[in-house]
Amino acid sequence: STDSLGVAPILTKLQKDCATPLPVLRHVADAMADDMRAGLAVDGGSDLKMILSYVDTLPTGNEKGLFYALDLGGTNFRVLRVQLGGKEERVVATEFEQVSIPPELMFATSEELFDFIASALGKFAQKEGGNFELQQGRAREIGFTFSFPVKQTSIRTGILIKWTKGFAVSGTAGKDVVACLNEAMERRGMDMQVSALVNDTVGTLAGARYWDDDAMVAVILGTGTNACYVERVDAIPKLTKRMSKSPITIVNTEWGAFSNGLPLTEFDREMDAESINPGEQIFEKTISGMYLGEIVRRVLVKMAKVGGLFGGSYVPEKLVTPFVLRTPDICAMQQDTSRDLEAVESVLYDVAGVKSDLSARKTVVDICDTIAKRGGRLAGAGIVGILQKMDEDSKGLIFGKRTVVAMDGGLYEHYPQYRGYLQEAVTELLGLEISKNVVIEHSKDGSGIGAALLAAANSKYE
Ligand code: ADP
Repeated sequence: STDSLGVAPILTKLQKDCATPLPVLRHVADAMADDMRAGLAVDGGSDLKMILSYVDTLPTGNEKGLFYALDLGGTNFRVLRVQLGGKEERVVATEFEQVSIPPELMFATSEELFDFIASALGKFAQKEGGNFELQQGRAREIGFTFSFPVKQTSIRTGILIKWTKGFAVSGTAGKDVVACLNEAMERRGMDMQVSALVNDTVGTLAGARYWDDDAMVAVILGTGTNACYVERVDAIPKLTKRMSKSPITIVNTEWGAFSNGLPLTEFDREMDAESINPGEQIFEKTISGMYLGEIVRRVLVKMAKVGGLFGGSYVPEKLVTPFVLRTPDICAMQQDTSRDLEAVESVLYDVAGVKSDLSARKTVVDICDTIAKRGGRLAGAGIVGILQKMDEDSKGLIFGKRTVVAMDGGLYEHYPQYRGYLQEAVTELLGLEISKNVVIEHSKDGSGIGAALLAAANSKYE
């Protein structure tokens, strides 16, 4: 390939455009804190919606009894039951099932969808065995994790704004999804009712808090990304109607919409422009699992076309399809420690149908690393932004003592380099001493039990 530019200048420019030196991280953390304040001041005041969760009672560990959780966030939903035994016994027993939603129900009526969910939940409840026992005179209470945009109006009411993720169910938008589910359960004569409507990040925070009193922030890094944290009610100017006497409440930041001062490349801009939501969710498009592989793919296409990555200007046909290269693929390539980079070779062959030489494979690993590094470090800066905001408001109560950030999501769980870069950025920003107080850890049981715990903490019978 005599007329190609070579890969080196393209890689160098990519690394420069993706660089996240300390001043960039610091700017992102500061801007995150500023945007949080603006979003708390008035609705629509910032990229960050700073949604009030109406969760102002977190689990303490003292909860007792049988509780259910229902998690609806995609084409599968999970049902779970847990028997809580209080401070000493904790989780006595737990069981769960996953149910896939028949594709035709994604285009059905609201009644049809919720009847199906209620029926699956009812069948699951009927299989309740000897390890589980409902207290006399109580209905079975459910924590309902519903990962679609809702306008929450109390701990157990939320109006669906719109369906996303391929759902086109008619007749739910504008309605209270808790009422929809409760009515479906009533139609079947079930003794179950929703006690808490929960965002998945809020469920994660509740699950972490049950085990650890220092859990203050939860972050999900999966297909998408979001974060929530414990806020003081008197730091929320837009909260005018106080619902309870609690001095704290959980705020769902919807931080995926953050966009201030991010180091972006031509590849990010093109991906955004061709996306279904151009100009929106820019932080999410830079750091979350749905997009990292796609950014790498776009770099590879350019390097093949003008850099001679695969010889001449040969662009493998399969590589031109958006989203064929997935984040688990780039993660797998980065785990390759073999001398000949055999795993990289097979991913490139399987995904793009291309035969690569060793130098091309090395370049591909460098690109994956560049994109994962930027994502992980920016996620870390976002976390520091949240902690910084909390610390300033509480005059040192965050950094001056142990604080836990509960992490969940497939990207965080399965991508060790990404996780390492995230921690590295947090340590760089906070310094060694303070960062010892900030514990960033994978939350064991995810949001499932968390939702059941929130049903317990917000029980109608207490
Ligand atoms: P979701 O966010 O879709 O509710 P998860 O939290 O399980 O569900 O996250 C799934 C996402 O995690 C995938 O879309 C993918 O981007 C990312 N992921 C899954 N496995 C891996 C992996 N091995 N390496 C890197 N990322 C992964």
